[in-house]
Amino acid sequence: MSPTELSPLSVLDSSLTFPDFHQDWTLTNSVSFTGIGVHTGQAVRLSLHPSEKPGFWLRDGNQHQLISADMVRDTRFSTTVGSVMTIEHALAALNGLGLSAALIEPEGPEAPILDGSSAPWVEAILAGGITALNSPRQIYTLKSPWHWQQGEISISAEPADQLEIDYSIDFEREHYRLEQQRQFNWSPQGFAEEIAAARSFAFERDAAALQAAGLAKGGSLATSLVLIETGGSLNPARWPDEPVRHKILDCLGDMVLLGGWLNARLSIRRGGHTAHVTMVKTLQDQALLAPVSGMRLAK
Ligand SMILES: [Zn+2]
Repeated sequence: MSPTELSPLSVLDSSLTFPDFHQDWTLTNSVSFTGIGVHTGQAVRLSLHPSEKPGFWLRDGNQHQLISADMVRDTRFSTTVGSVMTIEHALAALNGLGLSAALIEPEGPEAPILDGSSAPWVEAILAGGITALNSPRQIYTLKSPWHWQQGEISISAEPADQLEIDYSIDFEREHYRLEQQRQFNWSPQGFAEEIAAARSFAFERDAAALQAAGLAKGGSLATSLVLIETGGSLNPARWPDEPVRHKILDCLGDMVLLGGWLNARLSIRRGGHTAHVTMVKTLQDQALLAPVSGMRLAK
């Protein structure tokens, strides 16, 4: 089967129409999933509801908190926002489709991992429909180029009139090197077709070590692509470069923490949640974000 046939989203291509990105967009109907949390192994549920207020809000008891970088508690294996672990794939679905307003309601300590990608969320959101709000969308670009490096991990960001992500990963094992690079110029269609179905990945031995340490309790071949240290994978990849596509997905999820859309040219080497969140916090702390009034989509 070709990668296109494996993508569960190809049938929805023609239904994706977002006429005006200068407005805020939210869901028309609520969507919910129940499933296993990949880290806790518990049965959990997460719902995404329409919101008339712009921004992504997290329901915490009776309070609604606007999701921000200050709410990040952990980035080691996934992104924990408030008390909810592994929320990034649901956030990536919202952000990747170009939505900018939703109320997120967790039931349990973690979001369900589902198939390890954003595809189930994307399919459910599109099936339920999307609605424009009357408010103008918050869009930023950068006042000046920014570069960050920590060992072999680096991020370069330059001002741009759309979001472009050039991502590369490089995992070295004794007899194998997983080196992948992908450029993604954002559009909702491109996200749905090229990125949303890319699953989380782990090397077989790393996954076994995590589980022996009582972590990744819900991890399995059903929730991730499991790579073999000498090359290949235990379960079939959806694309040859599925891992780097998933990194772009994670990045789009973590960029929700900015509190607005970012038009920038990002070049990320060996990144992960910690690097993404560091980028968001630093761009905010150093006041490098400038509001803009327009954006264009990748052709
Ligand atoms: Zn992920």
